[in-house]
Amino acid sequence: MSDFDLIVIGAGAAGSRAAMEATKAGAKILLLDEQAEAGGQVWRAKSPSIISAPKTPETIAGDKLRSDLKLENILHIVNARVWQIEKNNDDLWNIGYLNNGHLHNVTCKAIIAATGAQERVIPVTGSQLPGVIGLAAATALFKQHLTTPGKQTIVAGCGPLLIFTAYEILRLGGKVCAIISLNSKTNWAKASIDMMTRPDLLWRGATWFAKITAARIPIYWQSTVTEIIGETHIESVNISAIDANWSATSHGQKNNIKADSLCMGHGLNPAIEATKLADATHIYSPELGGWHVKTDDFGRTDKAGLYAAGDNAGIYGAGAAPYRGKLAAIAALQFLNIGKTQNTDKLVAKMKSAAKFGLATTKLTILRKGMIENTQQTAIICRCEAVSRQQLEAEISSGAHSPNAIKSGTRCGMGPCGGRYCNDVAALINQTISGKTRQQIGLTTSRPPIRPLPISAIAQNFDYDDLPIPAPAPL
Ligand SMILES: Cc1cc2nc3c(=O)[nH]c(=O)nc-3n(C[C@H](O)[C@H](O)[C@H](O)COP(=O)(O)OP(=O)(O)OC[C@H]3O[C@@H](n4cnc5c(N)ncnc54)[C@H](O)[C@@H]3O)c2cc1C
Repeated sequence: MSDFDLIVIGAGAAGSRAAMEATKAGAKILLLDEQAEAGGQVWRAKSPSIISAPKTPETIAGDKLRSDLKLENILHIVNARVWQIEKNNDDLWNIGYLNNGHLHNVTCKAIIAATGAQERVIPVTGSQLPGVIGLAAATALFKQHLTTPGKQTIVAGCGPLLIFTAYEILRLGGKVCAIISLNSKTNWAKASIDMMTRPDLLWRGATWFAKITAARIPIYWQSTVTEIIGETHIESVNISAIDANWSATSHGQKNNIKADSLCMGHGLNPAIEATKLADATHIYSPELGGWHVKTDDFGRTDKAGLYAAGDNAGIYGAGAAPYRGKLAAIAALQFLNIGKTQNTDKLVAKMKSAAKFGLATTKLTILRKGMIENTQQTAIICRCEAVSRQQLEAEISSGAHSPNAIKSGTRCGMGPCGGRYCNDVAALINQTISGKTRQQIGLTTSRPPIRPLPISAIAQNFDYDDLPIPAPAPL
């Protein structure tokens, strides 16, 4: 007997929609999320310390999602960090999560993993300096705390978050010194054609560009950050023009721009820790953000009872995520034999149409070959364990070509982030030395816990007298 029919991991755009669909059909469900409120990354809730704030399309959509969830009376546990997923002897899924400092175990017949995405930052020397944050991280700062990263900010990288971040800093009263865009104007013009499927969003993007232009912010197209300068904090940034491969050119324009903060990001990677731990098959597609769990249109993985919805199954974006959540719920309900069969043709068509916009934006973030050449030997790749490119190269050149071997040789990926932010970059460096494809390089072996746990939660309260004393060994 299982505790729940279905457990949904992640209360973002996809997971929340999946949970509502499954509850309506009568399934006994549990929705878990490590955040304090539902909404995920795109519809992140503002901190309770902010009493009132101007409404934005994100806050309106997020507030609606949160009130819809409450109406459905869903069992939603917040601040619940899932760290373990395994099949037990009764063929049920066993899920371990941390909540309020305590470990909990629950069982279910089916899981929908809707764990979203995480930011990719290709580091350069100085990336670890205080004042340097990711583009996506900056959006979390804007949405949750309505604050800007510094007084004078440079915004660098590629894709839509670059323009959104610059716009948001201006909206919140901050100053943007410069925008350093890997994408060219032509890249943007071509992407805009593919984005026509959502004229409302395209128009919104155009208003961001208009505000940036009106504020006379210099935009360095087809350029990249090559070094971040500073002793104890970022003081300035070196930039360079790039070639068609996104590698800094020796002859092109170079500049040094002063700033007290830098937001830098290079697209998103699907957050695959949960589906990897559940042992589903993953595939590598650069146009979908890299490694992602393999699913059909309904989020079915190759593990019975395991579904994936949203950006962890490929970066199709926020528009497609609720449809993907609903489709995964329909497939899970079918597996659970709950509710009626329904015609899903229209829903699949809507999901595919919404995905076109997301795919066009993801395309702007597909990394080109030369990008990793801009990362110097001294650049810190694994921030948790302070592993430099030089250390990684030495390890790979000594014959450690598998991600596991590199990890055990250097500790890259052994820190609190569990490799979520450095494994991708380590694999890019590995590619340049080993000449292998990303598929050949593969992924590290997944082991619990997929999120850090405090030792107090594992040990709990115990009395030394209760510890079993082993019998003496025979002489
Ligand atoms: C930092 C960041 C900022 C972004 N900002 C924007 C933006 O401003 N505009 C935009 O269009 N797109 C943005 N994106 C992309 C956008 O988040 C996605 O396209 C969209 O949210 C996808 O919905 P989702 O439901 O798949 O994921 P999400 O909405 O991200 O939801 C995933 C949820 O899973 C939870 N979760 C993950 N792992 C665990 C675990 N182990 N235990 C418990 N809970 C877990 C997370 O807390 C999160 O709430 C951003 C992405 C990131 C990473």
